[in-house]
Amino acid sequence: MHMLSHAEASEKFIANQERTDWHDDTLWFVRAKRDKASKLLPEWEALREQASQIKEHMLSNLPQYLLEFEANAQANGVQVHWAKDAHEHNEIVYSIIQKHGDKALVKSKSMLTEECHLNAYLEQRGIDVVDTDLGERIVQFRKEVPSHIVLPAIHLKKEDVGETFHQHLGTPKGNKDPQFLTEAARIHLREKFLEAKVAITGVNFAVAETGEFVVCTNEGNADMGAHLSDVHIACMGIEKIIPKRQDLGVFLRLLARSATGQLITTYSSHFAKPRAGQEMHIVLVDNGRSRQLARDEFRNSLKCIRCAACFNTCPVYRRSGGHSYHQPVAGPIGSILAPNFDKKANVDLPFASTLCGSCSNVCPVKINIHEQLWFWRQDLMKEGLAPAGKVLGMKFMAWMMANPTIFRMAGGMGRKVMNWFPFLVNNGLNPWYKQREMPAPPKQSFQEWYKSNRL
Ligand code: SF4
Repeated sequence: MHMLSHAEASEKFIANQERTDWHDDTLWFVRAKRDKASKLLPEWEALREQASQIKEHMLSNLPQYLLEFEANAQANGVQVHWAKDAHEHNEIVYSIIQKHGDKALVKSKSMLTEECHLNAYLEQRGIDVVDTDLGERIVQFRKEVPSHIVLPAIHLKKEDVGETFHQHLGTPKGNKDPQFLTEAARIHLREKFLEAKVAITGVNFAVAETGEFVVCTNEGNADMGAHLSDVHIACMGIEKIIPKRQDLGVFLRLLARSATGQLITTYSSHFAKPRAGQEMHIVLVDNGRSRQLARDEFRNSLKCIRCAACFNTCPVYRRSGGHSYHQPVAGPIGSILAPNFDKKANVDLPFASTLCGSCSNVCPVKINIHEQLWFWRQDLMKEGLAPAGKVLGMKFMAWMMANPTIFRMAGGMGRKVMNWFPFLVNNGLNPWYKQREMPAPPKQSFQEWYKSNRL
């Protein structure tokens, strides 16, 4: 099946102008909340710098911290597993479930399990996976993937949720009241929590010094799952390690403010050891992270704490929607991570950016996101993976811009064509014309204007 490129998928998304505007405004509202919350802290920039340096140190000493974490977690009575890739991760999780003979489990939000396509893997083996984050449950009912890593159903309006719940939970048709729908989801999920013997959670931070891990949610669903189940499986990418418990003070303050503009996430739960009679497992997953670590220009993308601030601020993400990125992690950071998995399949993503740098400005761990997108573009062009049309276009532009006389002539001709025969430019065959109002061309170039006005 042909996978739509970012541009093709975006075209479908923006065909609905009203939804596009609403999506754009909603995420900008979250970005504005983040700005307000961050400005309440005079030490905000110092915190960002400190977080970035702690992660830098962690990445430079990753093997040592992973082993320290393993030893401490084991001493706490936790069973630690290592998975080199997504397949191994899924096999490990499945083997634990099989050992207990269970056919259903509850899962709180974990982008790693999305990355590993765990749900599909388990469902093919007869396991019923219930996502318990409200937004994730909504998209799961609709057989969609999350469109945003913090707000998985942000592409949907309350009318869509009402209809989905009507179909799957039997709520009255046409009821779109958020309070009512949340209550219906609560009753539905309560039953699932009470029945499940196995709970899977993600991990936000794993502390090497103590062997504990922290899971942040606003709904308390990770806690409900973990506390009611006989078996708790926590799945984490190896980059989630931080050296010390005191480092949490830096990251927890940055995470909630950057993600939703809250001062603190509602639940930041620390899991250190299984309660009496419970089994606790941690699966440490590489899945390409070591490869990314070895790429100098891209290694610090592993500092990401998945706050999604770069999504909310990105003009391209806000106007193209998360599903256009055809990856579990969308947005600017997803466009850096995806080519690490498969350059050819994700060649479009580093180009899905204006390179305006807003993502790098808001990133709480100071990842140079827009520069890395630019680095990927160069890498993909060098490897000849970009579409032929783009390669030719770029070569032509490079040649033209390197020749001032030709550049001036082309500019002059372009202005005349757009003035005299606008239909040659403003027509359906020009992708730039779709969804845009082309501005009227200026009468003269900047250089001409400068000569007559300033010299
Ligand atoms: S790259 Fe930075 S801003 Fe984007 S999700 Fe990660 S931590 Fe947040």
